[in-house]
Amino acid sequence: MTDRDRAASCQGPYGGENGLEDCGDPVRFEVARHLRAPLRVCPVHLGPSLLLAAGVLWPPGIILVR
Ligand SMILES: [Zn+2]
Repeated sequence: MTDRDRAASCQGPYGGENGLEDCGDPVRFEVARHLRAPLRVCPVHLGPSLLLAAGVLWPPGIILVR
């Protein structure tokens, strides 16, 4: 998997640090994180990611990327 593929697919619900649990759906939102790269997720995993991924700011900072 290339960096380009990785950037375009959902990293939810645990921030892309869960190996086989990665979703892989197209990215729709970017969630700001403290001291980590922004988390790019699909609509289904936006909610779970806010609650479960490491380093998510609260209140969350969310950007619609497409
Ligand atoms: Zn997803």
